[in-house]
Amino acid sequence: MSTKWVVEDKENKNVFWPSDEMKKRAWLSDESFYEEGKADPVKFWEKRAEEALEWHKKWQTGYEQDKDKPWKFKWFLGGEINASYNALDRHVKAGNGGKEALVWVPEPTDEKPKTYTYKQLYDEVNRLAGAMKKLGVKKGDKVSIYLPMIPEVVVSMLATARLGAVHSVCFSAFSGESLRDRVEDAESKVIITADGYYRRGKPLDLKKNADIGASAPSVEHVIVVKRTGLDVAWDEKKDIWYHELLRDADDYCEPEFVESNETLFLLYTSGTTGKPKGIVHDTGGYLTQAYWTTKLDFDLHDDDLFWCTADVGWVTGHTYGCYGPLLNGVKVLMFEGAPDYPDAGRWWKTIEEQKVTVFYTAPTAIRMFIKFGDQWPKKYDLSSLRILGTVGEPIDEEAWLWYFNTIGGGCCPVIDTWWQTETGGTLINSLPGVGPFIPTVAGRMFPGTKHILLDEAGNEVEEGQSGYLAQVPPFAPGMLRGVYKNEKKFVETYWSRFPGYYDTSDGAVRREFDTIRVTGRVDDTMKVAGHRLSTAELENAINEHPLVRESAIVPKPHDIKGEVPIAFVMLKDPSKASDGLKKEIVKHVDSMIGPTARPHEIYFVDDVPKTRSGKIMRRILRSLVKNDPDMGNLSTLMNPECVDELKKAVGFKEG
Ligand code: ATP
Ligand code: MG
Repeated sequence: MSTKWVVEDKENKNVFWPSDEMKKRAWLSDESFYEEGKADPVKFWEKRAEEALEWHKKWQTGYEQDKDKPWKFKWFLGGEINASYNALDRHVKAGNGGKEALVWVPEPTDEKPKTYTYKQLYDEVNRLAGAMKKLGVKKGDKVSIYLPMIPEVVVSMLATARLGAVHSVCFSAFSGESLRDRVEDAESKVIITADGYYRRGKPLDLKKNADIGASAPSVEHVIVVKRTGLDVAWDEKKDIWYHELLRDADDYCEPEFVESNETLFLLYTSGTTGKPKGIVHDTGGYLTQAYWTTKLDFDLHDDDLFWCTADVGWVTGHTYGCYGPLLNGVKVLMFEGAPDYPDAGRWWKTIEEQKVTVFYTAPTAIRMFIKFGDQWPKKYDLSSLRILGTVGEPIDEEAWLWYFNTIGGGCCPVIDTWWQTETGGTLINSLPGVGPFIPTVAGRMFPGTKHILLDEAGNEVEEGQSGYLAQVPPFAPGMLRGVYKNEKKFVETYWSRFPGYYDTSDGAVRREFDTIRVTGRVDDTMKVAGHRLSTAELENAINEHPLVRESAIVPKPHDIKGEVPIAFVMLKDPSKASDGLKKEIVKHVDSMIGPTARPHEIYFVDDVPKTRSGKIMRRILRSLVKNDPDMGNLSTLMNPECVDELKKAVGFKEG
């Protein structure tokens, strides 16, 4: 790699700063935005909203918040805007219609990637929007989108938004029952789905699942994209082929401008801690944060190719796979298949072939690739990469350094973005031209936003202490406006523990250089003999052992110590499991953190329960070690079969 983008600060080991070259290129390389945001956050965001978007009508009031009910806040009151107009029309009108907007890489290797220019995307969105309008979809109606990673998913989201309707995307790997729950909750009029998609070389029937969702009483139409040509069940009354609908549609559909605070989409959380919540996002505030976080976090310029690997079924796929890059007029890459099909080099090959410059993925994927071995990325030329990003969980030091060195060649900043479905866009991470980049430390608060760390009593903790991460008003423009049809849950979950603040449910520690280290969910901390321990910290230490692939720690009640840590350890080579290795791991923890953190019990296992977004579901492990038969909701589990193996491992007694 020729350009040294990142330099290491010699005095602080593993604290990285941007090089002069990086600063020169970056949109932001100084404190200006931070200072402006601190001085007057509302004014800061008003200025940003004006720069980022084209408003059909300017707002009257920047920000308003109810005195007694802080969760009732609004941004850009009276402003009118349309999301699809800003993502597409604006670029076409500015003469950039010929610029490539999207490149889609299908899973089958004999199928060629497909590219859409902004004009082509604009045309297809207009046609679909017009056709849906004829089907009776209007402002405020809900449209459920149950599509795999194919371009039609972006077209469907934007076409829905064009009508002022509300999209609710459901992850395509979820079951038909999960879809129906979400369709029923949202009372969707239309479902957009596909006949199927490719996964590990096999076409899978998606329509069969979609039909279960379509049995919800609100559903009038099911629009079906032909992706695989599978022979699927057909309901003449409800089902319509996408391509037939578009063929007969008008070229242009007038965008419906909506008041900034009207809902753009509903999205259900990952369900890591319980039943998924239907998160409500507004239009103008969300788009403003999507635009600016995409632009600054990944320092996106006109010639960049941005690949966000998240499925569009997650918020990351919404903000950084669709809205953020398109609002910025940048080109995005979408990949259909499994990351290791036909082999573990597929992602790296894609980066080489497409010359991806900015790459955004999750720690769970990084850990998987570490396991596959360095020979895979080493086979490909990854020198087009400038910036790497990660999201979804705390990233452990080993994974961070592997990502930085093996994928980034030791010169791309790793942007560790902390955020949630609820926040709509990133909130805590360092910026490429500003830094610093420190393994396991998410970084600085995004300009114009503020979080504090509180103790149980709601007092701010001292520097270096861990606490509850809470957001201070004015709340960031992209923040959720509710839990759909459930205000009680909304208020209870986010606004009750610390009156006046937004409670993230995450724990964090303030670190040097104005940075924050997010250690994970507050539920995932434990108190051992009076000492507060975070599972992330302990897992981080265990994962550093060269034979360990991954680990999950949960607390188990203990008569004397209150709680003790129990470790589930997955080895790179399972045949290496032995009592000797257990002792070695304990010694390793002793030296890294101290004897209080010493795991009380270590179980070598093949797998632990994970959500479909790859996050460990510790609540199930907690139930297992307590022999609590109530495992709670398992509907979002990716690998339910591992629960039985774990029961055996821990000696779980049924009944
Ligand atoms: P549910 O809310 O249904 O239990 P979930 O919290 O996993 O599910 P998401 O909104 O997808 O649903 O995930 C947000 C959470 O992921 C954050 O609250 C945090 O715990 C974790 N997280 C995301 N990014 C990071 C990061 N960079 N560092 C540490 N933790 C992160
Ligand atoms: Mg959550």
